[in-house]
Amino acid sequence: MNTYVILCDETQTSAIVDPGDDTDTILAMTDGTQVDKILLTHAHADHVGALAEVKAATGAAIYLHPAEKERFGVTFDHPLADGDVITIGNARLDCIHTPGHTPGMICFRLDHRIVVGDTIFVGGPGRTWSPQEFAQTMKTLQEIVFQWPGETEFYPGHGPSGTIGRERADFEAFAAGGWLDDLHGDVTWQSSPSQ
Ligand SMILES: [Zn+2]
Ligand SMILES: [Zn+2]
Repeated sequence: MNTYVILCDETQTSAIVDPGDDTDTILAMTDGTQVDKILLTHAHADHVGALAEVKAATGAAIYLHPAEKERFGVTFDHPLADGDVITIGNARLDCIHTPGHTPGMICFRLDHRIVVGDTIFVGGPGRTWSPQEFAQTMKTLQEIVFQWPGETEFYPGHGPSGTIGRERADFEAFAAGGWLDDLHGDVTWQSSPSQ
């Protein structure tokens, strides 16, 4: 999975997003910076595997949407909500709530770049475990994610980054084609309605 570090060049203040594993590598990524926040897109085990060690090593405060604590039991220092603004030195991150893959997923936007967790990947949405979660995912993608400008770069929790513009046609073709009521799991935009 992907861990991201967001750094303010002017102050050398940093934030770690989703410390999933490999504490040594994460701490090397932030070497020489003042780590003052650990931001969690969501609380799946593969995104928080190094959380306790990174927290102990940095003393940074953990930010998470409260619905994630309810579902997964991961504790935090500061609750996140849609519309919150997080500062990292002189940089400002906007928090965007994108439920679907999990109930408390938060994306972090820095100008035209957005860390999206498992909200969307190149080629398809994050995995879902029920038709209700898949329906919520599609609602979030239609009403929030694909409202972002085409040049928006998204940085997911797994795999390569993409742009909203390059994903839009495949997503819209899938949405226009409709899907079976019980569809969920590992869906791609190439999934046909009969699958
Ligand atoms: Zn996940
Ligand atoms: Zn994940």
